[in-house]
Amino acid sequence: MGECTRCGACVRVCIAARQGLATGASVLERSDRFTCAGCWKCVEACPEGVDIYGLMMQSRRYRELPESYKAAVRRIQSTGYAMPAEGVNAIREMYGLRPIRRVRRRVLEKLLRASEPER
Ligand code: SF4
Ligand code: SF4
Repeated sequence: MGECTRCGACVRVCIAARQGLATGASVLERSDRFTCAGCWKCVEACPEGVDIYGLMMQSRRYRELPESYKAAVRRIQSTGYAMPAEGVNAIREMYGLRPIRRVRRRVLEKLLRASEPER
């Protein structure tokens, strides 16, 4: 894995940077790691082969989750969906789609158990 030369290639392709959510010569210099959309364009653009996404995710693990993420986690734990079901259903209705169904408790618990990190 290469070292960052601060060439700026990653910032030029980053969708978060385009929306003003990331600043600096490299996306690794951003202060808020939670605006990353996980598109991997920076990884593809980096001429040095820096594991940008991996480093970004690693640094997230040691930071306090933003309130919006905590709310999404609570929703996943209770409904199985990160987005509020009412909002999703309103959009689905506009397109003539059936409402989403709640994830069954048993399935949800199984998924949550499977996503727990190994110790
Ligand atoms: S593209 Fe790679 S080398 Fe260039 S600034 Fe970003 S991380 Fe550093
Ligand atoms: S993976 Fe994240 S940091 Fe990289 S280009 Fe996409 S949004 Fe930007």
